[in-house]
Amino acid sequence: MSTTKTNLLGLDSQAITAHFAAMGEKPFRARQVLAWIHQRGAQDFATMTDIAKGLRQRLEEEAVIEAPRIVGDSVSQDGTRKWLLKVDGKNAVEAVFIPEPSRGTLCVSSQAGCTLDCAFCATGKQGFNRNLTRAEIIGQLWLAERLLTEATPKRSPAGQARHVSNVVFMGMGEPMLNLEEMIPALRLMLDDRAYGLSRRRVTVSTSGVVPGMDRLAAECPVALAVSLHAADDRLRDQLVPLNRKYPLKQLLAACNRYLERAPRDFITFEYVLLEGVNDSEAQAKALCGIAKQVPCKFNLIPFNPFRGTEFRRSSPDAQRRFAEVLQHAGLIATTRRTRGEAIDAACGQLAGRIADRTRRAELRA
Ligand code: SAH
Ligand code: SF4
Repeated sequence: MSTTKTNLLGLDSQAITAHFAAMGEKPFRARQVLAWIHQRGAQDFATMTDIAKGLRQRLEEEAVIEAPRIVGDSVSQDGTRKWLLKVDGKNAVEAVFIPEPSRGTLCVSSQAGCTLDCAFCATGKQGFNRNLTRAEIIGQLWLAERLLTEATPKRSPAGQARHVSNVVFMGMGEPMLNLEEMIPALRLMLDDRAYGLSRRRVTVSTSGVVPGMDRLAAECPVALAVSLHAADDRLRDQLVPLNRKYPLKQLLAACNRYLERAPRDFITFEYVLLEGVNDSEAQAKALCGIAKQVPCKFNLIPFNPFRGTEFRRSSPDAQRRFAEVLQHAGLIATTRRTRGEAIDAACGQLAGRIADRTRRAELRA
Protein backbone atom coordinates (compact mmCIF):
# COMPACT_ATOMS: atom_id res chain seq x y z
CA MET A 1 0.00 0.00 0.00
CA SER A 2 1.25 3.45 -0.83
CA THR A 3 1.84 5.71 2.14
CA THR A 4 1.84 8.87 0.02
CA LYS A 5 -0.75 11.31 1.27
CA THR A 6 -2.96 13.19 -1.20
CA ASN A 7 -2.24 16.90 -1.42
CA LEU A 8 -5.68 18.51 -1.38
CA LEU A 9 -4.31 21.93 -2.31
CA GLY A 10 -4.23 21.21 -6.03
CA LEU A 11 -7.69 19.63 -6.30
CA ASP A 12 -10.33 21.73 -8.00
CA SER A 13 -14.00 21.44 -7.09
CA GLN A 14 -14.63 18.44 -9.32
CA ALA A 15 -11.49 16.63 -8.25
CA ILE A 16 -12.02 17.11 -4.53
CA THR A 17 -15.65 15.98 -4.85
CA ALA A 18 -14.48 12.84 -6.65
CA HIS A 19 -11.82 12.28 -4.00
CA PHE A 20 -14.36 12.58 -1.21
CA ALA A 21 -16.78 10.30 -3.06
CA ALA A 22 -14.03 7.66 -3.22
CA MET A 23 -13.67 8.07 0.55
CA GLY A 24 -17.43 7.52 0.94
CA GLU A 25 -18.06 11.17 1.85
CA LYS A 26 -20.79 13.47 0.58
CA PRO A 27 -20.15 16.29 -1.94
CA PHE A 28 -21.04 19.02 0.58
CA ARG A 29 -18.19 17.85 2.81
CA ALA A 30 -15.82 18.30 -0.10
CA ARG A 31 -17.17 21.81 -0.65
CA GLN A 32 -16.70 22.67 3.00
CA VAL A 33 -13.09 21.51 2.98
CA LEU A 34 -12.46 23.36 -0.28
CA ALA A 35 -13.65 26.60 1.35
CA TRP A 36 -11.56 25.97 4.46
CA ILE A 37 -8.45 25.54 2.37
CA HIS A 38 -8.83 28.40 -0.08
CA GLN A 39 -11.08 30.96 1.59
CA ARG A 40 -9.77 30.63 5.10
CA GLY A 41 -6.25 29.52 4.29
CA ALA A 42 -6.47 26.47 6.54
CA GLN A 43 -3.52 24.11 6.55
CA ASP A 44 -4.43 22.02 9.53
CA PHE A 45 -7.47 19.73 9.42
CA ALA A 46 -7.89 20.09 13.18
CA THR A 47 -8.97 23.73 12.71
CA MET A 48 -11.90 22.72 10.49
CA THR A 49 -14.34 22.84 13.35
CA ASP A 50 -17.54 22.24 11.41
CA ILE A 51 -16.25 18.94 10.04
CA ALA A 52 -16.98 15.79 12.05
CA LYS A 53 -14.05 14.75 14.21
CA GLY A 54 -13.84 11.30 12.64
CA LEU A 55 -13.46 12.74 9.18
CA ARG A 56 -10.89 15.28 10.36
CA GLN A 57 -8.83 12.46 11.83
CA ARG A 58 -9.08 10.44 8.67
CA LEU A 59 -8.00 13.43 6.59
CA GLU A 60 -5.02 13.94 8.84
CA GLU A 61 -3.98 10.36 8.20
CA GLU A 62 -4.58 10.32 4.46
CA ALA A 63 -4.16 13.86 3.18
CA VAL A 64 -2.11 17.02 3.43
CA ILE A 65 -2.44 20.67 2.42
CA GLU A 66 1.01 21.43 1.17
CA ALA A 67 2.26 24.57 -0.59
CA PRO A 68 5.79 25.41 -1.73
CA ARG A 69 8.11 26.39 1.11
CA ILE A 70 9.08 30.05 1.41
CA VAL A 71 12.84 30.42 1.33
CA GLY A 72 12.99 34.14 0.54
CA ASP A 73 10.68 37.06 1.30
CA SER A 74 11.78 40.57 0.34
CA VAL A 75 9.93 43.86 0.20
CA SER A 76 10.93 46.75 -2.02
CA GLN A 77 10.50 50.40 -1.00
CA ASP A 78 7.50 50.76 -3.28
CA GLY A 79 5.73 47.93 -1.43
CA THR A 80 6.41 45.24 -4.04
CA ARG A 81 7.00 41.95 -2.29
CA LYS A 82 8.82 38.98 -3.76
CA TRP A 83 8.80 35.41 -2.51
CA LEU A 84 11.28 32.72 -3.44
CA LEU A 85 9.44 29.43 -3.20
CA LYS A 86 11.13 26.08 -3.00
CA VAL A 87 9.20 23.54 -5.02
CA ASP A 88 11.54 20.58 -4.54
CA GLY A 89 15.09 19.81 -3.50
CA LYS A 90 16.59 21.48 -6.56
CA ASN A 91 14.20 24.14 -7.75
CA ALA A 92 12.77 27.38 -6.46
CA VAL A 93 10.45 29.76 -8.35
CA GLU A 94 9.35 33.31 -7.70
CA ALA A 95 6.04 35.06 -7.12
CA VAL A 96 5.65 38.81 -6.81
CA PHE A 97 2.89 40.90 -5.19
CA ILE A 98 2.43 44.40 -6.58
CA PRO A 99 0.16 46.59 -4.41
CA GLU A 100 -1.61 49.61 -5.86
CA PRO A 101 -4.34 51.76 -4.33
CA SER A 102 -7.11 50.14 -6.36
CA ARG A 103 -5.82 46.60 -6.70
CA GLY A 104 -3.30 44.05 -5.61
CA THR A 105 -1.72 42.05 -8.41
CA LEU A 106 0.02 38.75 -7.85
CA CYS A 107 2.44 37.70 -10.57
CA VAL A 108 2.87 33.93 -10.52
CA SER A 109 5.11 31.34 -12.16
CA SER A 110 3.99 28.35 -14.20
CA GLN A 111 7.27 26.46 -14.75
CA ALA A 112 10.68 26.10 -13.12
CA GLY A 113 12.59 27.89 -15.87
CA CYS A 114 11.40 28.09 -19.46
CA THR A 115 12.22 26.13 -22.60
CA LEU A 116 11.69 29.05 -24.96
CA ASP A 117 14.85 31.11 -24.56
CA CYS A 118 13.65 34.59 -25.55
CA ALA A 119 16.70 36.76 -26.10
CA PHE A 120 15.89 39.39 -23.43
CA CYS A 121 14.55 37.22 -20.59
CA ALA A 122 16.38 36.18 -17.44
CA THR A 123 14.14 33.15 -16.93
CA GLY A 124 14.84 31.94 -20.47
CA LYS A 125 18.57 32.30 -19.95
CA GLN A 126 18.40 30.06 -16.88
CA GLY A 127 17.20 27.07 -18.87
CA PHE A 128 14.38 24.75 -17.90
CA ASN A 129 13.78 22.08 -15.33
CA ARG A 130 10.12 21.13 -15.13
CA ASN A 131 6.46 22.09 -15.17
CA LEU A 132 4.96 23.19 -11.87
CA THR A 133 2.13 21.03 -10.55
CA ARG A 134 -1.37 22.43 -10.06
CA ALA A 135 -0.75 22.51 -6.29
CA GLU A 136 2.45 24.50 -6.81
CA ILE A 137 0.65 26.96 -9.07
CA ILE A 138 -2.39 27.57 -6.85
CA GLY A 139 -0.07 27.34 -3.84
CA GLN A 140 1.46 30.69 -4.83
CA LEU A 141 -1.93 32.41 -4.50
CA TRP A 142 -2.79 30.46 -1.35
CA LEU A 143 0.49 31.50 0.28
CA ALA A 144 0.24 35.12 -0.82
CA GLU A 145 -3.29 35.46 0.57
CA ARG A 146 -2.23 33.92 3.88
CA LEU A 147 0.84 36.07 4.23
CA LEU A 148 -0.84 39.29 3.16
CA THR A 149 -3.83 38.90 5.43
CA GLU A 150 -1.58 38.03 8.35
CA ALA A 151 -0.59 41.67 8.20
CA THR A 152 -3.67 43.66 9.22
CA PRO A 153 -5.13 46.14 8.35
CA LYS A 154 -6.17 45.36 4.78
CA ARG A 155 -4.42 48.45 3.50
CA SER A 156 -0.91 49.56 4.16
CA PRO A 157 -0.33 53.06 5.58
CA ALA A 158 0.32 54.31 2.02
CA GLY A 159 -3.20 53.18 1.10
CA GLN A 160 -2.09 50.24 -1.03
CA ALA A 161 -4.18 47.09 -1.29
CA ARG A 162 -3.10 44.16 0.83
CA HIS A 163 -4.94 41.36 -0.79
CA VAL A 164 -4.86 39.76 -4.20
CA SER A 165 -7.51 41.12 -6.56
CA ASN A 166 -5.75 40.19 -9.80
CA VAL A 167 -3.49 37.36 -10.89
CA VAL A 168 -1.14 37.53 -13.87
CA PHE A 169 0.87 34.61 -15.21
CA MET A 170 3.88 36.74 -16.00
CA GLY A 171 6.37 35.12 -13.65
CA MET A 172 8.68 32.32 -14.64
CA GLY A 173 7.75 29.96 -17.46
CA GLU A 174 5.41 29.67 -20.42
CA PRO A 175 1.93 28.88 -19.07
CA MET A 176 0.64 27.58 -22.41
CA LEU A 177 3.21 24.77 -22.31
CA ASN A 178 1.80 23.57 -18.98
CA LEU A 179 -1.94 23.73 -19.53
CA GLU A 180 -2.56 20.30 -18.03
CA GLU A 181 -1.66 21.76 -14.63
CA MET A 182 -2.65 25.37 -15.36
CA ILE A 183 -6.32 24.68 -16.10
CA PRO A 184 -7.25 23.10 -12.72
CA ALA A 185 -5.34 25.91 -10.98
CA LEU A 186 -7.22 28.52 -13.02
CA ARG A 187 -10.53 26.86 -12.18
CA LEU A 188 -9.73 27.20 -8.50
CA MET A 189 -8.90 30.88 -8.95
CA LEU A 190 -12.29 31.45 -10.58
CA ASP A 191 -14.32 29.21 -8.25
CA ASP A 192 -16.63 31.13 -5.89
CA ARG A 193 -15.91 28.56 -3.20
CA ALA A 194 -12.20 29.18 -3.54
CA TYR A 195 -10.88 32.61 -4.66
CA GLY A 196 -13.84 33.83 -6.73
CA LEU A 197 -11.78 35.98 -9.08
CA SER A 198 -13.55 37.09 -12.24
CA ARG A 199 -12.18 35.85 -15.55
CA ARG A 200 -11.17 39.39 -16.42
CA ARG A 201 -8.95 39.62 -13.38
CA VAL A 202 -6.90 36.58 -14.23
CA THR A 203 -4.48 37.08 -17.12
CA VAL A 204 -2.42 34.43 -18.83
CA SER A 205 0.57 35.76 -20.75
CA THR A 206 2.00 33.78 -23.64
CA SER A 207 4.85 34.22 -26.04
CA GLY A 208 2.54 32.83 -28.71
CA VAL A 209 1.93 29.09 -28.32
CA VAL A 210 -0.91 28.89 -30.83
CA PRO A 211 -2.35 25.44 -29.95
CA GLY A 212 -2.30 26.41 -26.27
CA MET A 213 -4.29 29.57 -26.99
CA ASP A 214 -6.96 27.51 -28.73
CA ARG A 215 -7.10 25.02 -25.87
CA LEU A 216 -7.35 27.70 -23.19
CA ALA A 217 -10.16 29.40 -25.13
CA ALA A 218 -12.07 26.13 -25.24
CA GLU A 219 -11.47 24.99 -21.66
CA CYS A 220 -11.06 28.00 -19.42
CA PRO A 221 -11.02 31.39 -21.16
CA VAL A 222 -9.48 34.15 -19.05
CA ALA A 223 -7.91 37.46 -20.06
CA LEU A 224 -5.02 36.99 -22.50
CA ALA A 225 -1.78 38.87 -22.94
CA VAL A 226 0.48 38.08 -25.87
CA SER A 227 4.17 38.97 -25.84
CA LEU A 228 4.66 40.55 -29.24
CA HIS A 229 7.92 42.54 -29.01
CA ALA A 230 8.23 42.95 -32.78
CA ALA A 231 5.93 43.84 -35.64
CA ASP A 232 7.67 41.74 -38.30
CA ASP A 233 8.71 38.10 -38.46
CA ARG A 234 12.37 38.80 -39.15
CA LEU A 235 12.91 40.60 -35.85
CA ARG A 236 10.47 38.49 -33.89
CA ASP A 237 12.29 35.33 -35.01
CA GLN A 238 15.34 36.73 -33.26
CA LEU A 239 13.73 37.99 -30.08
CA VAL A 240 11.16 35.24 -29.54
CA PRO A 241 12.52 32.08 -31.20
CA LEU A 242 9.08 30.43 -30.94
CA ASN A 243 8.04 32.79 -33.76
CA ARG A 244 9.80 30.45 -36.19
CA LYS A 245 7.21 27.82 -35.31
CA TYR A 246 4.17 30.12 -35.04
CA PRO A 247 4.82 33.23 -37.14
CA LEU A 248 2.86 36.45 -36.78
CA LYS A 249 0.16 35.59 -39.29
CA GLN A 250 -0.76 32.42 -37.39
CA LEU A 251 -0.42 34.17 -34.05
CA LEU A 252 -2.74 37.02 -35.00
CA ALA A 253 -5.32 34.60 -36.37
CA ALA A 254 -5.16 32.70 -33.05
CA CYS A 255 -5.71 35.98 -31.18
CA ASN A 256 -8.89 36.59 -33.13
CA ARG A 257 -10.10 33.03 -32.48
CA TYR A 258 -9.37 33.55 -28.79
CA LEU A 259 -11.44 36.71 -28.70
CA GLU A 260 -14.55 34.75 -29.68
CA ARG A 261 -14.47 33.18 -26.20
CA ALA A 262 -12.49 35.70 -24.16
CA PRO A 263 -13.94 37.60 -21.18
CA ARG A 264 -12.55 40.84 -22.61
CA ASP A 265 -12.97 42.19 -26.11
CA PHE A 266 -9.29 42.89 -26.67
CA ILE A 267 -5.93 41.17 -26.41
CA THR A 268 -3.19 42.88 -24.44
CA PHE A 269 -0.02 42.99 -26.50
CA GLU A 270 3.11 43.22 -24.39
CA TYR A 271 6.06 44.92 -25.98
CA VAL A 272 9.43 45.17 -24.24
CA LEU A 273 11.22 48.33 -25.36
CA LEU A 274 14.82 47.51 -26.27
CA GLU A 275 17.07 50.39 -27.23
CA GLY A 276 17.97 50.45 -30.92
CA VAL A 277 16.32 47.06 -31.47
CA ASN A 278 12.56 47.53 -31.57
CA ASP A 279 11.91 51.08 -30.35
CA SER A 280 11.93 53.21 -33.52
CA GLU A 281 9.00 55.29 -34.72
CA ALA A 282 8.85 53.21 -37.89
CA GLN A 283 8.45 50.10 -35.74
CA ALA A 284 5.69 51.79 -33.76
CA LYS A 285 3.93 52.56 -37.04
CA ALA A 286 4.24 48.93 -38.07
CA LEU A 287 2.55 47.99 -34.78
CA CYS A 288 -0.38 50.20 -35.72
CA GLY A 289 -0.76 47.95 -38.75
CA ILE A 290 -1.02 44.92 -36.47
CA ALA A 291 -3.64 46.68 -34.36
CA LYS A 292 -5.81 46.90 -37.48
CA GLN A 293 -5.88 43.10 -37.59
CA VAL A 294 -6.67 42.33 -33.91
CA PRO A 295 -8.64 44.38 -31.34
CA CYS A 296 -5.93 45.12 -28.80
CA LYS A 297 -4.31 47.34 -26.20
CA PHE A 298 -0.58 47.78 -25.85
CA ASN A 299 1.39 47.35 -22.70
CA LEU A 300 4.85 48.80 -23.26
CA ILE A 301 7.45 47.41 -20.86
CA PRO A 302 10.75 49.24 -20.39
CA PHE A 303 13.38 46.49 -20.57
CA ASN A 304 14.63 45.35 -17.18
CA PRO A 305 18.29 44.48 -17.38
CA PHE A 306 19.90 41.47 -15.69
CA ARG A 307 23.41 40.22 -15.38
CA GLY A 308 25.03 39.21 -18.65
CA THR A 309 22.47 40.79 -21.02
CA GLU A 310 23.54 42.90 -23.96
CA PHE A 311 20.20 44.65 -24.32
CA ARG A 312 19.57 48.11 -22.96
CA ARG A 313 16.41 49.89 -21.89
CA SER A 314 15.06 52.51 -24.31
CA SER A 315 15.53 56.07 -23.12
CA PRO A 316 12.53 57.78 -21.51
CA ASP A 317 12.31 59.94 -24.63
CA ALA A 318 12.20 56.96 -26.96
CA GLN A 319 9.62 55.29 -24.71
CA ARG A 320 7.44 58.37 -24.85
CA ARG A 321 7.77 58.81 -28.61
CA PHE A 322 6.93 55.17 -29.20
CA ALA A 323 3.78 55.39 -27.05
CA GLU A 324 2.74 58.61 -28.79
CA VAL A 325 2.82 57.06 -32.24
CA LEU A 326 0.38 54.41 -31.04
CA GLN A 327 -1.78 56.91 -29.17
CA HIS A 328 -1.97 59.27 -32.15
CA ALA A 329 -3.30 56.37 -34.18
CA GLY A 330 -6.13 56.12 -31.64
CA LEU A 331 -4.73 53.08 -29.85
CA ILE A 332 -4.49 52.49 -26.13
CA ALA A 333 -0.88 52.18 -25.07
CA THR A 334 0.29 52.31 -21.48
CA THR A 335 3.88 52.15 -20.38
CA ARG A 336 4.34 49.84 -17.44
CA ARG A 337 5.79 51.55 -14.44
CA THR A 338 8.75 49.50 -13.32
CA ARG A 339 8.23 48.15 -9.84
CA GLY A 340 10.39 46.20 -7.47
CA GLU A 341 13.62 46.61 -9.42
CA ALA A 342 15.76 46.86 -6.30
CA ILE A 343 14.75 43.33 -5.31
CA ASP A 344 15.00 41.97 -8.89
CA ALA A 345 11.24 41.53 -8.95
CA ALA A 346 10.52 43.40 -12.18
CA CYS A 347 9.25 41.74 -15.35
CA GLY A 348 11.76 39.36 -16.82
CA GLN A 349 14.11 39.51 -13.87
CA LEU A 350 12.71 36.48 -12.14
CA ALA A 351 15.22 33.71 -12.21
CA GLY A 352 14.54 31.70 -9.07
CA ARG A 353 16.91 28.85 -8.55
CA ILE A 354 16.53 26.10 -11.01
CA ALA A 355 18.46 23.01 -11.89
CA ASP A 356 18.74 23.47 -15.67
CA ARG A 357 18.07 20.28 -17.63
CA THR A 358 18.61 21.93 -21.01
CA ARG A 359 22.29 22.60 -20.25
CA ARG A 360 21.69 26.04 -21.73
CA ALA A 361 23.77 27.91 -19.22
CA GLU A 362 26.60 25.43 -19.75
CA LEU A 363 26.46 25.71 -23.55
CA ARG A 364 26.64 29.47 -23.30
CA ALA A 365 29.65 29.53 -20.98
N1 SAH B 1 6.24 33.20 -20.89
C1 SAH B 1 5.21 34.16 -20.88
C2 SAH B 1 4.94 34.74 -19.52
C3 SAH B 1 6.13 35.10 -18.66
S1 SAH B 1 7.09 36.46 -19.15
C4 SAH B 1 5.49 35.26 -21.90
O1 SAH B 1 6.57 35.30 -22.45
O2 SAH B 1 4.57 36.02 -22.17
C5 SAH B 1 6.08 37.87 -18.79
C6 SAH B 1 6.41 39.11 -19.60
O3 SAH B 1 7.70 39.64 -19.22
C7 SAH B 1 6.50 38.84 -21.08
O4 SAH B 1 5.83 39.82 -21.82
C8 SAH B 1 7.98 38.91 -21.33
O5 SAH B 1 8.28 39.17 -22.66
C9 SAH B 1 8.39 40.00 -20.39
N2 SAH B 1 9.84 40.06 -20.16
C10 SAH B 1 10.72 39.05 -20.22
N3 SAH B 1 11.97 39.50 -19.95
C11 SAH B 1 11.87 40.82 -19.71
C12 SAH B 1 12.81 41.83 -19.34
N4 SAH B 1 14.08 41.55 -19.15
N5 SAH B 1 12.36 43.08 -19.17
C13 SAH B 1 11.04 43.37 -19.31
N6 SAH B 1 10.12 42.46 -19.62
C14 SAH B 1 10.51 41.20 -19.84
FE1 SF4 C 1 9.92 32.02 -21.48
FE2 SF4 C 1 8.29 34.16 -21.47
FE3 SF4 C 1 10.89 34.39 -20.78
FE4 SF4 C 1 10.23 33.92 -23.32
S1 SF4 C 1 9.73 35.75 -22.12
S2 SF4 C 1 11.87 32.87 -22.17
S3 SF4 C 1 8.46 32.57 -23.08
S4 SF4 C 1 9.34 33.22 -19.69
